[in-house]
Amino acid sequence: MPELPEVETVMRGLQAAFQGQSLSHVIVRRADLRWPFPANLPQRLEGRKVLSFRRRAKYILMRIEGGQTLLIHLGMSGRMNIGPANPNATPPLHEHMVLQTANGFRAGLVDPRRFGIVDLFPTNAEDDHRLLSALGIEPLSDALSHTSLKAMFSGRRTPIKTALLDQKLVVGLGNIYVCEILFRAGIHPERTTGSIKDAELRDIARIIPDVLNEAIASGGSSLRDYVQTDGSKGGFQELHRVYGREGEPCPTCAASGRTENILRITQSGRSTFYCARCQKAPAG
Ligand SMILES: [Zn+2]
Repeated sequence: MPELPEVETVMRGLQAAFQGQSLSHVIVRRADLRWPFPANLPQRLEGRKVLSFRRRAKYILMRIEGGQTLLIHLGMSGRMNIGPANPNATPPLHEHMVLQTANGFRAGLVDPRRFGIVDLFPTNAEDDHRLLSALGIEPLSDALSHTSLKAMFSGRRTPIKTALLDQKLVVGLGNIYVCEILFRAGIHPERTTGSIKDAELRDIARIIPDVLNEAIASGGSSLRDYVQTDGSKGGFQELHRVYGREGEPCPTCAASGRTENILRITQSGRSTFYCARCQKAPAG
């Protein structure tokens, strides 16, 4: 599933090709993805300029001239093919929507499993949209700080791993990233949020954007069949220190001459990878 860094990468790709350009041609090849496409989408977009972009959680918001926002979510398997328009090329399989600019660029939304979402609504109602209104804070914004984490976490008995995955608290932190963040912070995934100390909250608030920015810089996480906007595989998986590495030596322990293998447990139905030496178990 495309995670926040992949979505940020896709948005930047769209922005480079589309911002300031007019949409000359919009194609919708089926009635629905997860939900129906907005009615008359081509007629409502064609001839209008793309003004700006915003990412909120894993939603790409494309602001269109005339006060409309086009929302795109890649779902489980979606990707955007961005490149020069070639009228003679056969469209790829599962390409359900195409946006084309007057200066010859196109973006094709390819989504084999069709869990993606496309919506069109007034820009001034973005934050009230039913998919966006209940979202937690953006991990790459100033809203993320040890103070905001403390306000969300104090006095609660939720495991820190589960809390960081909760989209109503902080958005866009998928399973891989949360495992990596807790490893770098040296925090055991089963500790309750209420037990996390101030200094540790500062560490988490610093490490979250570090990990995401590294992933964005390397083009996203690229698990399984996710392919980048330019068709190449992303590189963050090479930066995984614990995720998917059960039974392998912990890189931090190995660097100090110790042998400790990465463990895997299941929390809320998801795999958690951690090092029992670097991430001390909760007392009791
Ligand atoms: Zn270790």
